[in-house]
Amino acid sequence: MRVLIVEDDAMLADGLTATLRHEGFVVDSVASAEQAEAAIKVSEIDLIILDIGLPGMDGFTWLRRLRSRGDEQAVLVLTARDAVSDRVHGLKLGADDYLPKPFAPEELTARVSALARRGRAIRSRVIEHGPLTIDLARKRAMIHGKPIDLPQREHAILEYLFSNIDAIVGKEKIASAVASWDEHISANAIEVHISRLRAKLEPSGIRIRTVRGLGYIVEPWSDEKPQA
Ligand code: CA
Repeated sequence: MRVLIVEDDAMLADGLTATLRHEGFVVDSVASAEQAEAAIKVSEIDLIILDIGLPGMDGFTWLRRLRSRGDEQAVLVLTARDAVSDRVHGLKLGADDYLPKPFAPEELTARVSALARRGRAIRSRVIEHGPLTIDLARKRAMIHGKPIDLPQREHAILEYLFSNIDAIVGKEKIASAVASWDEHISANAIEVHISRLRAKLEPSGIRIRTVRGLGYIVEPWSDEKPQA
């Protein structure tokens, strides 16, 4: 789940970023609607956290544009406390939820997780592949119903690979899907993550094949396949 924060208060934006990253979201942040517009063109954003008072175009104007061209990212609007008219206006313009400032970090993560669960941002909540089940909303993976222990980044790579099951995915693509812009993940690091994932998946017969020079592809699952 990739989140874009549009907030011109740098301290607040940093706090939001840290809180959500801690919860396992991929988070980027920008300080204006103009930058947000550019951001959604280069990255597939699932959820936008939108401040209303922004330099340049305000949050409402941008939200109206977004919805009028049919963009469907989930939008959580940040409003000033008690500004009921802002809240109503935001929801009318197509926001999915709102959060009055100031708010507690737990409140933010609860709202964001609820939006994720509601499934607007995530097409399918569960991916199944042979004995492997990936629960996208809860960020958990299981083999034969038993949870497998995956650090955040490995889980994100697992999600990405199995969401693109018929495609060869390059290391660059994986890196840009699972990291925010200010992070750099090297091709070597991706290789390390993949080999750790393989160690956890291959005993159950789930294989991630290397396609030399191109990347990786998940092998189709077949029950007849001899188990390793
Ligand atoms: Ca502001």
